[in-house]
Amino acid sequence: MYGSLALLGQAVVYLVAMAAVFRIRHLVGIGVFYCILGAMHFLETYLAAVFFIELPFGLISPGSTVMFTGKLAFFLLLYIKEDAESMRQPVYGLLCGNVLMVALALILRFYSDPVALPGYNPDLRFVDQMGLLMLWGTFLLYIDLIALVILYERLGVWVTRTLLGRICLSLALVLSFDQLFFFLGLHLVSGVPMSALWGGWIAKMGASAFFGLALGLYLRFCERSEPREPPSGVADVFHRLTYRQRYEALAAEFGKDALTGVRDRRQFEGTGLAMLQAARSLGRPVSLMMVDIDHFKAINDQHGHPKGDRVIQAVAGVIDRSRRAGDEVFRYGGEEFALLCGESQQGALMLAERIRSAVAAGVYEGLEQVVTVSIGLATFPDDAGDFQALLNHADAALYAAKARGRNQILCAAEVASAAG
Ligand code: GH3
Ligand code: MG
Ligand code: MG
Repeated sequence: MYGSLALLGQAVVYLVAMAAVFRIRHLVGIGVFYCILGAMHFLETYLAAVFFIELPFGLISPGSTVMFTGKLAFFLLLYIKEDAESMRQPVYGLLCGNVLMVALALILRFYSDPVALPGYNPDLRFVDQMGLLMLWGTFLLYIDLIALVILYERLGVWVTRTLLGRICLSLALVLSFDQLFFFLGLHLVSGVPMSALWGGWIAKMGASAFFGLALGLYLRFCERSEPREPPSGVADVFHRLTYRQRYEALAAEFGKDALTGVRDRRQFEGTGLAMLQAARSLGRPVSLMMVDIDHFKAINDQHGHPKGDRVIQAVAGVIDRSRRAGDEVFRYGGEEFALLCGESQQGALMLAERIRSAVAAGVYEGLEQVVTVSIGLATFPDDAGDFQALLNHADAALYAAKARGRNQILCAAEVASAAG
């Protein structure tokens, strides 16, 4: 009777403490939660190996029942509220830490004469047993967690869509598997009797229900947003389950031109306005270059559009590599690029010349003609006081460069003085 109460008490203390730290993870950092998981590991394994209580249905260990079931439940919570990446880090940390522990324990044998203190004799056999069990336990944990995520997601499709059902059932199934295999390790390493297999399993099923219910309540009442919807195609291990990374990769692609990888035209005006505003308040210049490939239609006509595409990519690459930190390159149209840089007219002219000569010097596989670009250049505040005027001037300079024979750079100031 007292045994059951103590078990319940332990579960409640574990749950409240872990849930509280998890709840404030955005405030204190998820590392705090991870370290607590890690710190529990030794006690959990120690208790699972040597500390049992007798209950009516068999021998059970508070280490396995409370702490291990609780740990799995909190790993599942990590997955539900964060992602698989957040599960991967602590489980690899535990694996590496346990390997390191075993390695360090092996080196202990090289101390020839450890001092024997009354009541505290160094017990290397115990350290070895613990090390092995912790390694085995963490290896199983790794498998458990993969299975846990897959079950949690699949159950949502196949069996029950209720959150509580999915949590409790996936915990119960994974813990049944774990109980069998961890018990095998226990039995072999520390001779734990068979009655602990059955008793431990029943206790773990009870603990699954307890922690599953607690998790359900926690998610319902303590977390702001709803848990994520189940993804459609779960098939494999952690990296496949890492949705946040995919989202970030997708977000990073947003705003990029698909063919060239430079920023797309939708970003041009907003970035240009912001750069001009910043330059105005700092009293600094901004130059805009419009770069257009010469006689590009001929390349398309003679070699086909796929080859034309590769020329566009190559020219985009040249411009992108020439720019400095803080400069921005955009694909403005088909074979036309815009480059915004924090340079005066003189600095921008040098940059433009580097681009022009690099494009002209480039070798384009399978093309007999030389690829060249014409560049029109305008500078804020000398040529124009706002973004639209800057664009108009750079564009006019580009067309003047084309008219003068292409493969050259023309500044808005030159165009103005020629006209004036
Ligand atoms: P100019 O020297 O006067 O610039 O001559 P041009 O032939 O380059 O003339 P223009 O700039 O008008 O032609 C651009 C051509 O680029 C027209 C269009 O078919 C082609 N084009 C536009 N977008 C793409 C693209 O994504 N891929 C390919 N291969 N061609 C494109
Ligand atoms: Mg062109
Ligand atoms: Mg063009």
